[in-house]
Amino acid sequence: MAGEVSASGYQDAPLQRKLQNTTDCQKDSPVLFCNLLWFLVPVMRLFGVNTMRMLAYSLLILLFVAVLPATGRAAGQTELTWYGHAAFKVVTPKGHVLLIDPLFINQMNPDGQKDLDSLTKADLILISHGHFDHVGNANEIARKTGARLVATYDLANAMATYGGYPKDQMGYDTFGNFGGTLRFFDGEVTIAFIPAVHSSSVNPKDLKVGSQADQPEFGGNPSGFLVMIEDGPAIYHTGDTDLFSDMTLIPHFRQVDVMLACIGDHFTMGPGRAAEAVALVQPNMVVPMHYGIPDVLSGTVEDFERALHQKQLGRRLLPMSVKKPLVFNGAAPILSK
Ligand SMILES: [Zn+2]
Repeated sequence: MAGEVSASGYQDAPLQRKLQNTTDCQKDSPVLFCNLLWFLVPVMRLFGVNTMRMLAYSLLILLFVAVLPATGRAAGQTELTWYGHAAFKVVTPKGHVLLIDPLFINQMNPDGQKDLDSLTKADLILISHGHFDHVGNANEIARKTGARLVATYDLANAMATYGGYPKDQMGYDTFGNFGGTLRFFDGEVTIAFIPAVHSSSVNPKDLKVGSQADQPEFGGNPSGFLVMIEDGPAIYHTGDTDLFSDMTLIPHFRQVDVMLACIGDHFTMGPGRAAEAVALVQPNMVVPMHYGIPDVLSGTVEDFERALHQKQLGRRLLPMSVKKPLVFNGAAPILSK
């Protein structure tokens, strides 16, 4: 389906398209500042602006140029960043920060500890199920940011009782269950719980918060999330799951702009079954995740690509690189040519 136009109006691009690289942007900020000043100083002189005012205006411009690219996102845009495994950060157009399954320290992200240390803002932490590779660094982040926990009622309770998550950072505003949606930030973010075919337990030993004895506690039913952002994309994070036929119901209620799909096999669906999941959900694009652990998760992006191509869905594949943010204007991602 070459040149296919998706429901949200942007064109599918080929697999190897390059994402906008905000690191380059940050690197270029001082150059941009200098160029602006070269242009603006003579103009200000022309209009009789005095030196003190010129200095003040220049500082304002410097602030604008420095702050804007540091977030990789202009006002009104949404930013999606992958930290490896199933861990993602979403920054909304109004600047709210959501983390999903925040395992920052993982094999794909050797600088995870640094990322964790430099993370200063998070409003919500979404956890799909209680396994350690999805709870990840949630407790540490919650303590330093005050982020509230979004999870099923049972998982949230288990996280408070056995999992080390601060009890006062969750409540009826953040608990949910399947079929329900939660509204945050005056409706800027709406989150629906999507079932997942997996398991869920909270083991204090695995989470390094309790005794050394293996004692898995009931962690509710595992979930995925549909995160719908006002003036931004609808993002479906599958959590850990197998393919299941009820995935077809998801787009009956909301077109999915980007599906974050587990493909690693062994504990979740592998590339072939994940490609069938894409056929059921019909997202505008799919980002593979939860793969790349040698000797355990055998599914690869290459196999996933092949399986998608067999279903004429290859052009929807958008592999992300760890920590290269994908920026959205409305529901559509900004992709370089
Ligand atoms: Zn997992």
